[in-house]
Amino acid sequence: MKSRRDFLGGMAALGALGVPGCGSIVIGPESKLPDRDDVIIRNAYVMTMDPKLGDLPDADVHVKNGAIVAVGRGVLAVTAQVIDGRDMIVLPGFVETHWHMWNTLLRSMSGDKREYGYFPTTLALGKAYLPSDMYQGTRLATAEALNSGITFVHDWCHNIRSPQFAQENLRALRESGIRGRFSYGAAQGHPADQTIDLADMERLHRSWAANSGGGLLSLGLAWRGVSTGATGSVSAAAYKQDFDAARRLGIPISVHANNRKGSDAIALLAREKFLGKDVQVIHATWVSPEEIRALAENGCPVSLSPYTEMRIGFGFPPTGDFLAAGIPVGLSVDTTALSGNADMFAIMKAIQNIENARALNEFKLPARRVLELATIEGARSMGVADRVGSLVPGKRADLIMLDARDVNLAVWSDPAHLLVEAAQPSNIDTVMVDGRILKREGKLTTIDTAEVAREAQAALAALRKRAGWW
Ligand SMILES: [Zn+2]
Repeated sequence: MKSRRDFLGGMAALGALGVPGCGSIVIGPESKLPDRDDVIIRNAYVMTMDPKLGDLPDADVHVKNGAIVAVGRGVLAVTAQVIDGRDMIVLPGFVETHWHMWNTLLRSMSGDKREYGYFPTTLALGKAYLPSDMYQGTRLATAEALNSGITFVHDWCHNIRSPQFAQENLRALRESGIRGRFSYGAAQGHPADQTIDLADMERLHRSWAANSGGGLLSLGLAWRGVSTGATGSVSAAAYKQDFDAARRLGIPISVHANNRKGSDAIALLAREKFLGKDVQVIHATWVSPEEIRALAENGCPVSLSPYTEMRIGFGFPPTGDFLAAGIPVGLSVDTTALSGNADMFAIMKAIQNIENARALNEFKLPARRVLELATIEGARSMGVADRVGSLVPGKRADLIMLDARDVNLAVWSDPAHLLVEAAQPSNIDTVMVDGRILKREGKLTTIDTAEVAREAQAALAALRKRAGWW
């Protein structure tokens, strides 16, 4: 271990000196991440998303050692570096709740014919992935997430073809400094009668401290559940063993369910006692009242990804039905192979518009409620609301700052409506995760986006060639 550490340290030093030709060399997990400074944002419009603190016009947010130490007016912080928050909106970073980050390399590749649809495309290309493609896809996803104000991701990793695939995927997450959950899944085309690589998942769990990026990342299970994949329906023996392994390790579970008309997967999961607070259910666009009751009674959170659900024909997310039942709801990207981009503003707007359209009611889902789903309630649905999701002293400093002077904002009306209806990722001036400034004045501070794009493009070109894909 020592020699590797020395090597990495040496390479980081070379990188800092600007030695050419280091582009392809592995740099240590956190070597490029900035320090956690003593910083105060002054005179911003602060939306704490905390019911007691509410919105604070002309207020300050003081951050030190990665934590929020004070929120309010006229905060005393003599030694802190000052960030001017005038004409800016500050709010918690967005919490994303289900994203197959590895296939961001396949952005917008779901075609217009059945054989080129999302599932055959990700299967064919996923099988031809190398571990380095996991790194490239996930790194591109983290760059887009941070640029768009997403500070927490749930990386639903379902192309782990060997332990190295998981390692390379995790390396991209760690290097980015983003917070999130990494859910360990099967490979594309994995035999339906076999468990996932439980030994590797358990090994990762045992050594998690070394994988967690200093505690920013946690481990979960990307469970196939009772789904039917390319190799048929997952056998009961396999999905039970996978589930039991996660419960034994005490890690949370996540499963896709009820995305097609007539599906009763949730009813089956309820009957066989597979539901619980630790089991997140994804999509559930076709869900019976009994199934909603089962989710609510078991405390299951739900993740909704309106763009992929609409684009692939799963239907409309029944957001209002889940909220009425008291089910924690989080919003998600799912996959850019279908959604194109990772834009939480657009996702919020879609969630509101779909719900109001379904209800034939202009007032059904208020903007403020949608904003909660993208922040504090999303955090609650992922079990991290004690740490992030609102701007409260004592929580970790995951926050974003938008420039309200941009032309698509510019007039000061209702800030929650502005964020859900008008704002775009390009308005994000500053992004902070765990007190580290990862975007400032509209630019990512640690990621060379030109390099990320160039390498991702090269990886995709080589992948297409290997897979013989058009
Ligand atoms: Zn998904």
